[in-house]
Amino acid sequence: MSDSIAFVPTMGALHAGHLELIEHARKLSDEVVVSIFVNPLQFENPDDLAKYPRDIEGDTEKALSAGATRVWAPTFDEIYPSEIVKISAGELGQRFEGRERVAHFDGVLTVVNRLFQNVKPNFAIFGEKDFQQLFIIKNWVKENQIPVEIISHPTVRDSDGLALSSRNQRLSAADRKSALIIHQALGALTKEEMLQILATEPGFKLDYAEIIDEESFEIANLESLHKRGIIAGWVNGLRLIDNSPMGFVR
Ligand code: AMP
Repeated sequence: MSDSIAFVPTMGALHAGHLELIEHARKLSDEVVVSIFVNPLQFENPDDLAKYPRDIEGDTEKALSAGATRVWAPTFDEIYPSEIVKISAGELGQRFEGRERVAHFDGVLTVVNRLFQNVKPNFAIFGEKDFQQLFIIKNWVKENQIPVEIISHPTVRDSDGLALSSRNQRLSAADRKSALIIHQALGALTKEEMLQILATEPGFKLDYAEIIDEESFEIANLESLHKRGIIAGWVNGLRLIDNSPMGFVR
C-alpha cells in the first residue's frame, strides 16, 4: 500500500463529487495524485471549452485538504509534447454520448493514456456520473492489458438529487429546477415512463433516454442482469447527463 499510487484525473472546478473520489483514493493508497487538465481533445464545442470553469489555486487547496498528496496541472505541451498518439474508442465510443460527440471518447482515451504514462498509477478512480466513460476506460484497460486497476465511485448528488457537475455553476435557479427532471425520470421503471416524465418539463430538451445493459452497454433486454437508465439532454443551452441503476425493465 505505501508505495502504490492512486490517481484521480479531473478537469478541475472541483466539487464534492471529485473530493469523494480523492477520499476514496486515499483509502487505497498513501500517495494520491490529482490531475487538473481541461483536455481540448474531448470537447467538440469550442464555446463549451472556452466557458469551462477554471480555478487552479482553489482546486489545489480543495484537493490537498481532501487527501491528495500531489496536484498536477500540466500544460497542453506536457500532455501532448509532439505528434498526438490518438487512441480510438471504436464503436463503443459512437453510441449514446458518442452519437453527437463523435470524437469525445477518442479524446478521453487519448488523454487518459498520456496521464497514465506520466503518473504511472496502480489505481485510477473514476465516477459513475460518466458511466459510458467509465465503461470505455475499463474496456480499454482490459483489452490492452494496461497495468492500472480502474476503481469506480458512485455518483455524488446535491440534496435535491441533481448530480454534481462542474457545469452546474452555469445553471440559473430556474435552469436548476428544470434540470431536476433528469433525476426524477431516473426513478422510472421503463423507458416509456422515463420519456413521459422528461416530457413534462418544457425547460428540458431531450437528447436520449435509454435503459442499457451494464455488462455490454447495449440496450437492455430480458436477459440483462444489471440495467441502468441513462439520460442526456439540454437545459438552456447546457448539456447535462446522468444515470442510475434500475431494478428491472419491462
Ligand atoms: P471531470 O472533472 O468532470 O472530468 O470529472 C473527473 C472525475 O470525477 C470523473 O471520473 C467523473 O466521473 C467524476 N465525477 C464528476 N462528477 C461526479 C459526481 N457528481 N459524482 C461522482 N463522480 C463524479
